[in-house]
Parts: sequence; structure tokens; C-alpha cells
Amino acid sequence: MKVRLAKTAGFCMGVRRAMEIVLAEANKKKGPLFTFGPLIHNNQVLDLLSSKGVIPVENLDGLQTGTIVIRAHGIPPQRRQAIKDTGLTVIDATCPKVAQVHSIIHYHTKKGYTALIVGDKDHAEVVGLKGHSKGPVYVIQEVKDVDALPHLDKAFVVAQTTQDEQNYHKVVYTLKERFPDILVFNTICDATHQRQKEVRSFKGQVDALIVVGGYHSGNTQRLAQVAKKAGIPAFHVETEKDLDKKKLFGMQLVGVTAGASTPNWMIKNVVKEIETMRGRKESPFARWIRRIFRFLVVSNLLVASGAFCFSYAASVLSERGSSLMFPFLAFLYIYAMHVLNHFLDRGASAYNDPERSSFLIKNRRTLIISGIAAIATALALSCTISLTTFVALSGISFFGIIYSLPLIPEKIQHIYPYSKIKDIPGSRSLSESLAWVAVITILPLFKIDSIVWPAVIISTLVVFLMSYTRSALFDIFQAQGDMIVGTETLPITMGERRTLVLLKSVLLTTALVLAGGPIIGLVRPFSFVILLPLLTLSFCLLAYEKRWLYPGINFEALVEGNFFLAGFLAVSWQAV
Ligand code: SF4
Repeated sequence: MKVRLAKTAGFCMGVRRAMEIVLAEANKKKGPLFTFGPLIHNNQVLDLLSSKGVIPVENLDGLQTGTIVIRAHGIPPQRRQAIKDTGLTVIDATCPKVAQVHSIIHYHTKKGYTALIVGDKDHAEVVGLKGHSKGPVYVIQEVKDVDALPHLDKAFVVAQTTQDEQNYHKVVYTLKERFPDILVFNTICDATHQRQKEVRSFKGQVDALIVVGGYHSGNTQRLAQVAKKAGIPAFHVETEKDLDKKKLFGMQLVGVTAGASTPNWMIKNVVKEIETMRGRKESPFARWIRRIFRFLVVSNLLVASGAFCFSYAASVLSERGSSLMFPFLAFLYIYAMHVLNHFLDRGASAYNDPERSSFLIKNRRTLIISGIAAIATALALSCTISLTTFVALSGISFFGIIYSLPLIPEKIQHIYPYSKIKDIPGSRSLSESLAWVAVITILPLFKIDSIVWPAVIISTLVVFLMSYTRSALFDIFQAQGDMIVGTETLPITMGERRTLVLLKSVLLTTALVLAGGPIIGLVRPFSFVILLPLLTLSFCLLAYEKRWLYPGINFEALVEGNFFLAGFLAVSWQAV
């Protein structure tokens, strides 16, 4: 069955920020860590936080030491003061957009206006909003509540940030009829606005819409209501186990969206489950092809084949002939390192890529044996080339293996906190791209008699920059899981926006190297040809930035496809 995933599905800015704050604090392991109320309305995320020692508390009784985080919904100022009085360290994760509504309420009620809040009376955010009022405040939910309001001379209206927009507009319209001078602030946040707008846009496009998120999450419930009001058959599920397969049976295209508090891995699990259901028009052959394709991705055979192709392209670019031996070594090495490193450090993959993780767990023994066999074969083959090639590949393999192993004893981690190489902030993209460079462009140098240095330098730069972009792009896709386990990848230390800017600069530099090399006579014109996969790699970056595509197996394959394209172009170049 086909899935159309909403661009807006998943954590909103406020929830992501609150999660980052809490996880960063939890990973410091500095003593008791509390959240005032559940951080978000999602049981699976709360279970995960509790496994990291984060304790949600509803009252302050008995709390004296530790840190307490105020969640994204915000709280009334009186309660904030009570928390401060306990002596706990307070970290405020109130969403800036909610804080803006606090300011509006505080400012206008101080000037004598009566506050009207359109929202759910008992919702934590509304309780917080009410607390910021310096005068009378009324909470209304629907148009019919307007009649019950007393006469008001000076009034203003705001919305709970996750309100249904259409409902808010209707209430405001009715309020204006009754209080023509009322001040109106549309405080529905943009994340909510875009999410609901996208849900309505699914009408007529999909057979049904699945809304993923906690059953107690107000904004998730509202998305399902918005869909139903728009006439779209909608099902609210918390996990993939809640999918009603009987009702979905025979559908062709199903839309998936998710509440602002739903993590990516839960969305991926639901998408995967739907994709494995048989669609109305899907033939057994198409289903079979899809399974093979998935197998190639999750088994790491696709990335290894990409390295093979890219290695061949690099050999043509660096003018060292077109032997297939070194591309084959690259295939074996990249396959072995991906598989073995996964088992040495499973950490974030259960959150980042549940499908791959469960595949790897299920086939653990076979994969470990195949990984060891791959590196052993690579070493044996390197022996047949030369002793120096064997020694060099052994060194590269050694560094590849120790990358995920703890090297610093726990006793001295207070002096140097990074036990593994992979723990060093930003090291993953760098280590991966250096490994690609080592096996693709450095290793063959031990065998060549006459090295064309300008071409070698250019091909080394291109391999480094393109593989760095690939790796950092995957780091962006995997940021949520890495954040949970405390791996400080580039997007986590720099932020996603800055990482994207950096990657654009990397791509631009690569383009200049590829275009400038042949112009000043350093490499053959084949360099111009490699601009094409660079362009398609840039498209992948853009597709992510614009949310045209959602991170997952298909997107991963698309990124790896750029390296296949480079290999294909090299073969074609050699043929003509
Ligand atoms: S839905 Fe909007 S206001 Fe609420 S936490 Fe998310 S970004 Fe902030």
C-alpha cells in the first residue's frame, strides 16, 4: 500500500526544543531531573524519558534537590514562584510562542481589558495562560459559549496555540457581532496552522488519513477532528499496533500525519506497517521488487555498492586506470564497517531506523559473520596486491573498528568525557568521510607507479566533500535518535539550520573544484561529468529542506543513488 506522508508530521519547534533541553540535561547525569507535568502527551516518549531518569511530577511535595524543567505548555507565574521557592534548579522550556501569548494576556489585562481564551478549559497551556491574567478571564470553547459571557466593555481574545483554526475564526466572528470593539489576536501557532492546512489538503487525494500521536494529545486529537470535518476518513493511532488493518484493507493510497509531540521513529513504524499491507493495485511482482529494494538498503548492501561505484568514478577522475580491484575492496570495507559498527554500538538506531534495527537484530549472527568475512576477504585480496596495501588496509580497518569501542576508562571520564571516537562532537561525519577517502583514494596510491598528483588531489577532495555531505545529511535524518542517546553529531552541536548552510558551502566548494580543475588543466574533462551527481546530491539536500521527501528508506536510497550515478557516468566515459 502506498503512503503519502505529511510534510508537517512530527515534532514542532516547541516540543523539539523542550525535548532537546530535557535530553541534554538527562545526558549530563547530574542528579534528579524532574519535569513539571509530563513533558509531552506521548506515552512512548515518556517511557523513554523515564528510562533516562526523567521523572514527571504533578506537585512539589518533598522535592528539595535536583533540577526541574517547565514544559513547553508553560505554567502560571504563581506556580513558577512556588517552584523557585523549593530551591530546585529551574529550567524553563516554555515554548517561545506560548510565552508570547503570556505577554499579550499580561499586557492587556494590566490595561483593564478582559481576557477571552478560546481553548480547552483544563488543558495545561490554558491553565498557564489564565495564570498570566491580571484581571477577569473567560475560557470559551465554541460559538455557543459566547452567549453565556457577561457584558464586556474592553475585551480581547486569544487562542490556545493548538486550536482548530476554523473553530477559532467562527468564535471570533460571533464575538465581534456581540463586542464590535474586541481586540483579536490570532495566536494559533504557525506549526498548528500548517499542520491543519495540510490535513485539509489531503481531501480527495488519499483513501484515508492516519493520524499518529498520543491518545491524550490535544493537538493530535484535533488533527483527526479536522480531517473528519473535512470529510476524510481518519484514524487516530498511537502506534503501528493500533492500525485497523480490516478497515484499511484494499485501500491504495493512505495519508499519514502526526501530532506535534510524535517522534519520528513512531511515524516511521506506522509508515512501514502500512507499506507492508497489500494495496488494491499492487501486483505480487511489484511487492517482491519492493522487498528486495528494502533488503538492499537495510542490509547495507546498497551503501557498499554505492562506495564501489564511487570508487570506480574516483579511479577514472584520478587517472589511475579502471581496475575493479580497488572498487571491490571499497565495497567489502564499507559493508563490513557499517555492519560491524552497528553491532558494536546499537545506540540510536532503534530510534532512528527501527526497520533496519529490527532487521539487523533478527539476522544478527549471519550479518556479523558476513561482516567479518567481508573484511577478511578484503585483507586477503589486499595481500595479493602488495604488502603495503595489506598494511594500509589493516590500519584503516583497525581505525574503523575502534571508532565505536570505548577507549577512555570510566575512571578518568571526568577529565575527558569522550569515551569513544564517535562520542566526540561532530566526529561521525568526519570519520565516515575520512574512511571513504582512505579506502577510495589513498589505498590505491600504494600500488600505482606513476601518480598524477593534481588529479589525485582533486579526486581526494571530491570524495571527501561528497561523502561528508552524504554522512552529515544522514546525521540530520538521525538527529532525534542521536539526541536521545546523547551522540553529539554535527546537527546536534551546530543545529540543523547551520548544518544545512555548511553543507551548501561544501557542495559549492565541490562544484568549484570539479569545474575549476579541468579549466586550469589539473584534471581531465571527466571532472565536468561528476558535476551531475553533485547536482543530484544537492537536490537531495533541497528536497529535505523543503520537505518534498521525508527521511526514510526511499530517501536514503536516493542519496546513495548519487554515487551509483557517478559510477555509471565513469563507465560511460570510459566506453566512449
Ligand atoms: S504547537 Fe506551536 S506553540 Fe505549541 S509547542 Fe509547538 S510550536 Fe510551540
